[in-house]
Amino acid sequence: MSDHTAGIASLGDLKGKRVLVRSDLNVPLDGTTITDDGRIRASVPTIKELSDAGARVVVTAHLGRPKGEPDPAYSLEPVVGRLSELLGRPVAFATDTVGASATETVAGLQDGDVAVLENVRLNDGETSKDDEVRGAFADQLAQLADAFVSDGFGVVHRKQASVYDVALRLPSAMGGLVAAEVDVLRRLTEHPERPYVVVLGGSKVSDKLGVIDNLIDKADKLLIGGGMVFTFLKAQGHEVGKSLLEADQLDTCTRYLAEAADRGVEILLPTDIVVDTAFPSGDREPEPRVVPASEIPSDALGLDIGPESAAAFAAALADARTVFWNGPMGVFEVDAFADGTRAVAQALTEVDGLSVVGGGDSAAAVRTLGFDEAAFGHISTGGGASLEFLEGKELPGIAVLERD
Ligand code: ADP
Ligand code: MG
Repeated sequence: MSDHTAGIASLGDLKGKRVLVRSDLNVPLDGTTITDDGRIRASVPTIKELSDAGARVVVTAHLGRPKGEPDPAYSLEPVVGRLSELLGRPVAFATDTVGASATETVAGLQDGDVAVLENVRLNDGETSKDDEVRGAFADQLAQLADAFVSDGFGVVHRKQASVYDVALRLPSAMGGLVAAEVDVLRRLTEHPERPYVVVLGGSKVSDKLGVIDNLIDKADKLLIGGGMVFTFLKAQGHEVGKSLLEADQLDTCTRYLAEAADRGVEILLPTDIVVDTAFPSGDREPEPRVVPASEIPSDALGLDIGPESAAAFAAALADARTVFWNGPMGVFEVDAFADGTRAVAQALTEVDGLSVVGGGDSAAAVRTLGFDEAAFGHISTGGGASLEFLEGKELPGIAVLERD
């Protein structure tokens, strides 16, 4: 490892220097109201550290998935007010990312001042697959700064201009948030204390099936909840009604079950399921019913693991020394389907060892269900990034900082 990973200190005296920080400020919004400010709070320490060091801090970040052109629905402006409150100092806002407003805003910064540039993904160069297009945009970003700090863990698995290309153009370092995330994930992949239990759920089924491949080698137990359950149940020959199903992954699930049995890895699937006849919406009161996992009615869909399963999952977590959890056990946003997620979260707070929560919705679930974040070993800000790390993939945004 070169000193790129030594953190901000490796950049030397930052007083008066313009430092571009890639943060992850991609928070859920209801209109312009922030419904969970976890990622903003997680970004504050690095921004504050730079400001305290006398740097002129220029924050770049994205919000949502706009189409690479100006669009007020994706403005970072609502985030700026909250960041300012949390930092306890004014934060300037540039209404573009690399245009006249950005140049003027950065030129107006005094030592210790902080500015946020408009949503970086409103520029098509940011996510372009064409190295030259991305590079040209990164050139413009790099002109705004003397150094770069990579602190957006949620995006380090993306080869994007503000994550990857800009690090090739400026003296660069890892921010404290990314360094802490990488440290915890290395503890999960290198020498996890055993028993090591992994809990997977959520709705991005095929994304997450990929991790199982790698984890069957490493974990002692795999607990499966959320939307992924039904592809496994179907693979075992059960009917799953209208539940979430990835029919093209049935063979993969069958293979995982066989492989786990071969290797002595326990895969725990729910034995009971909370179902309803429709996905929850504002239009009707939920009518939750608990049914055996092998008897999901054809007109129903599974929306949470049942109470027997929740108790079995909690019991399986009780003696764990290392736990990684990604993906809610059910549609926790609706109270009637939140019990499975609540039970797993509760069990994680009682783990005697390292408990890690990864994934945007999982982290939001922990907070909205009222758990104290300090009761968990680590709450990761990046879902995709932590999964790719655990899969053993190289993360471009990390590799670029570690190159010689
Ligand atoms: P994360 O962001 O933690 O990685 P995902 O994005 O994969 O998690 O999934 C989160 C979503 O999964 C939540 O919005 C939740 O409502 C949904 N979900 C959980 N269980 C089910 C299910 N049985 N059917 C449909 N959606 C589900
Ligand atoms: Mg999610």
